[in-house]
Amino acid sequence: MKEYKNFINGKFVDSKSGRTFENRNPANWDELIGIFPKSNAEDLNMAVEAAKKAYTKWRSVPLPKKAEIMRRAAEIMIARKEEAARLMTREMGKIIKETRGDYQEGIDTALFAAGQGRRYFGYTVPSELPNKICFTRRDPLGVWGLITPWNFPVAIPSWKIFPCILSGNTAIIKPATDTPASAGELVQVLHEAGLPEGVLNIVYGGGGEIGEAMLSHPDIVGISFTGSSDIGRRIGEVCGKTLKRCSLELGGKNGQVVLADANLELALDGVVWGAFGTTGQRCTATSRLILEEPIYDKFIEMLKARVEKLKLGNGLDETVDVGPLVNKAQRDTVAMYVEIGKKEGAKLLTGGEPYTEGECAKGWFYKPTVFIDVLPTMRIAQEEIFGPVLSVIKAKDFEEAIKILNGTTYGLSSSIYTNDLNKAQKAIELAETGIVYINAPTIGAECHLPFGGMKNTGNGHREGGWTAYEIFTEVKTVYIDYSGTLQRAQIDTWNE
Ligand code: NAP
Repeated sequence: MKEYKNFINGKFVDSKSGRTFENRNPANWDELIGIFPKSNAEDLNMAVEAAKKAYTKWRSVPLPKKAEIMRRAAEIMIARKEEAARLMTREMGKIIKETRGDYQEGIDTALFAAGQGRRYFGYTVPSELPNKICFTRRDPLGVWGLITPWNFPVAIPSWKIFPCILSGNTAIIKPATDTPASAGELVQVLHEAGLPEGVLNIVYGGGGEIGEAMLSHPDIVGISFTGSSDIGRRIGEVCGKTLKRCSLELGGKNGQVVLADANLELALDGVVWGAFGTTGQRCTATSRLILEEPIYDKFIEMLKARVEKLKLGNGLDETVDVGPLVNKAQRDTVAMYVEIGKKEGAKLLTGGEPYTEGECAKGWFYKPTVFIDVLPTMRIAQEEIFGPVLSVIKAKDFEEAIKILNGTTYGLSSSIYTNDLNKAQKAIELAETGIVYINAPTIGAECHLPFGGMKNTGNGHREGGWTAYEIFTEVKTVYIDYSGTLQRAQIDTWNE
């Protein structure tokens, strides 16, 4: 058990509040992972002051020099991968294979940033007038507030931290209350990699207190938030009042379509991984399976047999397939939706209750659950459950399948299994989601591509790859006139 402190201005410091909170293992609530400061607005103010001071110098450090720190961070992370993955599994429950993947995404993002430091391109554009050049460059904005969820304890903080600070901004991160340790270790890595004091600060505490204080802080220029759509709406509203830049990555209700011509074994592998990986607690998790009528009965039989073989347990055990939910509230939400599904008339194929065998009695486990004969309008087919619950819906043909796929308020990820090239292309065109997979599950993003969703999944920004750098910078348009005369755009014309 470790006692963590806030990290402000290059130093580990206690909270002015004197309050703390505990973080426990969701697979075994007797295990205490760490104790963290429950910070207050005064702590946040100190962090903002430090970040403001650091910004004036940091913004002018040449990008390739900043990038060297990112590369050193990646090297430290590579050396610590196993230790960090084990901590992450203990902290939030997902199985060790997945926490290794989560950490690897952080490494990949750090390496991408290291490369980006030498390819931070703008555009050069011709002018309407002679002896004049035009170009664009990207500049940082100032101090950012980064607010992250618990389901990707390192990957999501890294998606924000690396592009934010490589671009010349400084930041304060407030990680989720359920996963403060993994984020704290990542900040420690950047400190060891040589990041100057004040550039990145971590302030632990509740969303309602530190998160809210960030939103209204006059010296924070932007908020980058990943979390639920409800909190996202609130953040958009507060930021809108002061015209703070805000990027919102929110919930999903992702669907996998399986057409009659598909490779069914492949589609089965995909849906089991997509629905029950991370115990269904991914924003891109498959929570709806849309089956074309001719294969409906056969696929359900295959699905039941496979789901009932999944092994539940502590994610540190390499043979376990599914870990616990992150906390009691999350398990209660799952149980609530299972009751809603039953009342709505969906048929429970398997699961539908907590799992309390052996050592799992001390964790927030819930059996992988499948509902069949679900109607697209039912709440379990519309609302984000964020747990191991899959709703299976029948579609009479391709057109109806796409209509059902698009028939929710969310638009993050979708997947279509088919061997028909024409239908695959049409599905790509029609899917109302920011990410589309063909013959692959709804999960599996790579860090160098844009990531984000349409509709209620966000406000149009994309994290990941080059697009993350657009969130954290302003475009500056530059005109240089070397004619020595006054040239008036749109008025003076070019004469030979
Ligand atoms: P959440 O409850 O919305 O919390 C996310 C973060 O916001 C946490 O750090 C939370 O702090 C903080 N917060 C809570 N109330 C706040 C407020 N009033 N002002 C500012 N910050 C506040 O979400 P979650 O349960 O951690 O994560 C699950 C959700 O995230 C799901 O909906 C999932 O789909 C979504 N998600 C989306 C993506 C994506 O890229 N689209 C990726 C991953 C997850 P506390 O922890 O202290 O409450």
